[in-house]
Amino acid sequence: MTSKKEIKLLTELLELSGVKVVSRHQHKGIGILLQVEPVTKESICHRCGEKSHKLHQNHRYLIKDLPWGESPVFWEINRRQFKCKKCKKPFSENFDWVGKRRTYTKKLANKILPEVLGSDINSVAKKGLVTTEEIERMLKDASFELSNFKPVVP
Ligand SMILES: [Zn+2]
Repeated sequence: MTSKKEIKLLTELLELSGVKVVSRHQHKGIGILLQVEPVTKESICHRCGEKSHKLHQNHRYLIKDLPWGESPVFWEINRRQFKCKKCKKPFSENFDWVGKRRTYTKKLANKILPEVLGSDINSVAKKGLVTTEEIERMLKDASFELSNFKPVVP
């Protein structure tokens, strides 16, 4: 069992917005598994901005975060799908700490990217924290974000 005090501390440590840690498990040979759940019962539709309470589906999956010492850390997150009553269409909630369809937190990408720039994809992947595919994805995302910050020449 993870105590209430520990849960509160973990949530603060991870600086998560919109979710809280509900449990922590240590799996031999795998690492630490933190289960996180949303704190609100509603989400805002990306199409029309309407608040929705109507839960359509739970979508739980694992993402990786920064390791704690030698231990890899995984979060089991729940990216819920809501049904918008105005658009009549389902939409998935967004979190600002993980990209859509990404298997790692933005914090982890921010740690890996400088390592890749200082060496190469294969040597970073060999450390076992992320795969070469994930690193390529991180690089693509980073170059996309940079292209949005290019100064506009009049
Ligand atoms: Zn809508």
